[in-house]
Amino acid sequence: LLELRGVGKSYGANTVLQRFDLSVRAGEIVSLIGPSGSGKTTALRCMNFLEAYDQGEVWIDGQLLGYSGPGRRPTDQDSAAIIAEVRRPLAMVFQQFNLWPHMTVLENVMAPLLLGKRLNRTDARSLAEAALQRVGLAAKIGAYPARLSGGQQQRVGIARALAVKPRLMLLDEPTSALDPELVEEVLQVIRGLASDGMTMVMVTHEMSFAAQISSQVVFMEAGQIVETGAPATMFQAPATDRLRQFLKPWF
Ligand code: ATP
Repeated sequence: LLELRGVGKSYGANTVLQRFDLSVRAGEIVSLIGPSGSGKTTALRCMNFLEAYDQGEVWIDGQLLGYSGPGRRPTDQDSAAIIAEVRRPLAMVFQQFNLWPHMTVLENVMAPLLLGKRLNRTDARSLAEAALQRVGLAAKIGAYPARLSGGQQQRVGIARALAVKPRLMLLDEPTSALDPELVEEVLQVIRGLASDGMTMVMVTHEMSFAAQISSQVVFMEAGQIVETGAPATMFQAPATDRLRQFLKPWF
């Protein structure tokens, strides 16, 4: 479903991602872990071209994302449309929720359906309502984001991603902006998606959650993959000293 081959990204002289390889099949849940600044968010953002990678290739469902060939970008004129088309199977959940403050919960969830998918309002509304139901927020559809708790806002963010019926969800530290007592309600929603078979790639600092939910864990440092594998191996018998050291506070 998603394949990254040798993906790299630099900001000027600062290389933040190097030779990043990843293969995600339908039904898999991949967790990206690693110290702050190791490039996890950058890797995630390259997967849907929110960040233009500058080396390697990203393939979604057999289509190359963002470039028409190695190192070649489609012409500026048509690139946005092509990129939007290739990344259509993906949806993203952001660390800071990224809700529109002037729109109600329902309008926030409907927005990508109206603007991106170009559905009519009736169809968009019924998909949005179903997604909000699934995250337990059917009662809040008329509320504005500012009136919701952080946990509820993030559940709206998840509903907005779900409503477009993605085949793969990218989650960027979905609970790290939340007060500790609000984390669990969001993890619970993500667990629900996992048990329904949703394919996910998630950047997370919640190690026990990653250990429970992941089919594959990727440990990064300084823009590179240090170690990757099944959670049982990674968390119980890390192969590198670096990962052992990183995991010490958690296990
Ligand atoms: P955290 O866990 O703190 O979110 P991370 O592993 O997700 O960290 P990234 O956010 O991917 O790390 O950042 C990797 C490096 O890239 C950091 O050194 C950061 O300062 C740098 N970086 C990220 N975005 C930009 C940008 N737009 N311009 C310049 N440097 C950037």
